[in-house]
Amino acid sequence: MPLEQAEVDNLQRWLSHIGAGLDQYLKFEHPDALHPDSHWREYLDIPLPRQGVGIAQVTRELLDQVIPNGSPVPRPGFSAFITTGSTTASTLASAAASIASPQRYLHTAFNFLEELSLQWLAEMCGIGRLKGVYSSGGSVANLVALGGARQSAFEKYGHDPAAEGVNRPVAVYASAECHHTIQRSGGVLGIGRRAIRSIACDGDGRMRVDLLQQAIGKDKKAGILPMAIVGNAGTTNTGAIDPLRQIGEIAAEHSIWFHVDGAYGLPGILDDQISHLYQGLELADSVIVDPHKWLGASVGVAATFVRDRALLSRAFTQEPADYLEGAVEREDGSGAVIEHSLDDFGIPYFDYGVELSSPCRGVVVWALIREIGVEGMRQRVKRHNDMARYLARFADEHPNLEVLSKPTLSICCFRYTAPHVTDLDLLNQRLHRRLVRENEFMPSTTRVQGKLALRPCFIGARADRSQMDGLLQAVLRIGGELAAR
Ligand SMILES: *Cc1c(COP(=O)(O)O)cnc(C)c1O
Repeated sequence: MPLEQAEVDNLQRWLSHIGAGLDQYLKFEHPDALHPDSHWREYLDIPLPRQGVGIAQVTRELLDQVIPNGSPVPRPGFSAFITTGSTTASTLASAAASIASPQRYLHTAFNFLEELSLQWLAEMCGIGRLKGVYSSGGSVANLVALGGARQSAFEKYGHDPAAEGVNRPVAVYASAECHHTIQRSGGVLGIGRRAIRSIACDGDGRMRVDLLQQAIGKDKKAGILPMAIVGNAGTTNTGAIDPLRQIGEIAAEHSIWFHVDGAYGLPGILDDQISHLYQGLELADSVIVDPHKWLGASVGVAATFVRDRALLSRAFTQEPADYLEGAVEREDGSGAVIEHSLDDFGIPYFDYGVELSSPCRGVVVWALIREIGVEGMRQRVKRHNDMARYLARFADEHPNLEVLSKPTLSICCFRYTAPHVTDLDLLNQRLHRRLVRENEFMPSTTRVQGKLALRPCFIGARADRSQMDGLLQAVLRIGGELAAR
C-alpha cells in the first residue's frame, strides 16, 4: 500500500502526538521499563516486516510501546549517570536540525550556529581564545584532543604520526581518577593504552604533582617522549578538580601538551564559590566539555577546543578524495564567505575530527544558551552544587550517615552507617539495590578509598532540592530497615 505523501509530511500532526506522549512520559507515572516483569518486549519483538504499516501505526507504537518504556535517566530523581534527559529547547533544536539541516556543511543558518555556539560555549567556560569542533561525546572529544597532542609532540621531531604512524614510545600522564576514555584514546591513536601513566591522587582525588614530576623525569631518562598531561576539571567519580595551574606550569616547563578533561565539570566555573579552582585553565592546549552533561543537551554533543585547528586538520585529514575534490574551501582565517555554491563547505569540521557526516549540534547548544543565558546556566550549576554541599553538611551531622568525599561540584559520595553493622559495604549495596527497585531516587555506587559509597551526581535540568531531600529520606528509611534486621 503506497503511503500518502501528504499524510507522511504532516509533521505538525505527528509531532504533536509525540509531544503529548513525551509530556506524559515526563510525569513518570508509567511502570518501570527495567523491571523484569515488564511486557514491552513481547510487543516489539516481531519478525522483519515485509510490508509497512504506515506512519499512523508507527506513531501509535511509539506512543504505546516505545516511549512509556524508555529510560529512567530523565527522571528528576535519577542521579546515577552524568548524562540527563534533554531539555525542551534541546529536543526542539535537534528535531529542527534533523529535518532542515541534516549535515553541518554549506553556509546555512545551522552551519553558522555551529561556529557561533562553539564561541559562546568557549566564552561561557572561560576559554574564549580557543577554537572548537563538535563530536558525539566526551569519548571522541578526548580522542580528538589527544590526536592533536600526538601530532604536536611528533611534529617537533619532524615526524608526521598521522601519516606515518608513531615511531617511538610516548607517555601520557593522567591521574588515577581519569576517565578511561583516555586509555582507550591511547589504544586508538596507536600509542597504546599502557602509555597512559596513572598518577596517584591525594586524599581529595586530585593528581599529586610531585608524582607527576617524578614520572616525567623517569620517562625522559628512559628516552620516552612525554606526549600529554591530562588534568581533570571534574572527575567522573567524585567531581575533583586537579591542580590545573601547577599541572599547566609543569607542562609548560617540559613543553608537553596540556589537556583538560572538563566533559562533566567545565561549566562548574560558573559557580563563583569554586571558580578559583579553574585557575590555570588558560594554560591548556586543549579542553573538552560535554553539553550533553551539565547543559542539558540530548546525548550526542561534545566539544573539543584547541588553540589552532590546523593542527587537528593535520592529525585527522582524510587526504584528498574524488568525492570531496574541489568541494572543500579551506578556512582562510578571515571567516569571510564569498562563494555561493555547493562547493564551499565552510569550515572543514570533517577534517578536525573523526566524523564526516554528522548532525548539526551547534543549533542545540545555541538553543540551550539562548533560552536561559549564561545566568540561567549559572543558576542551574549553583543549584546542583548547592544540593551536593547541603547533602554533605546534612550527612556530616547525622549519626547514621558518613560523607566519603566532600563535594567539589555536584557529586557527593556518602554512605549509611550504624554502629553494630560490621559489613557496611554490603549494607550500602543492598540499600542501593532497594533504591533502584523503588525507581524514584537513583544514585550510582562507587568506591572511595576502598569503601562502597552512594554517589548521587545532581546534573539534570529538572532536578532540584526536593530530589535531594527525597534521596536523603529514602536512604535513612531503607538504611534503618536494613540495619534493624
Ligand atoms: C562522561 C565523561 C567522559 C566521557 O564522555 P561521553 O560523553 O560519555 O563519551 C570523559 N571524561 C569525563 C571526565 C567524563 O565525565
